[in-house]
Amino acid sequence: LNVSGMMKNKHLSDSVRRQCFYKFREYITYKSELYGIKLVIADRFYPSSKTCSHCGSIKKDLKLKDRVYSCSHCGTVIDRDYNASLNLSMYKLA
Ligand SMILES: [Zn+2]
Repeated sequence: LNVSGMMKNKHLSDSVRRQCFYKFREYITYKSELYGIKLVIADRFYPSSKTCSHCGSIKKDLKLKDRVYSCSHCGTVIDRDYNASLNLSMYKLA
């Protein structure tokens, strides 16, 4: 399959992307069961990037280009992706 060509077509690329995520989820579900790991799928609307991993306040105006998370509430300055990964590691189903 010409995946890179398909990715140039908006409608096709969306379905290719969905299919990849579906496969990825199927794969991690299978691996988790195999190794007895409890898999938690976070809600798609959970603001893992916008939440401060230190104090829990939410930065509504965080932009995609903001690579560093700087909390206006507690002053924490942390790498954006690291902040999101900390939040997801602490994520619990409500
Ligand atoms: Zn904070």
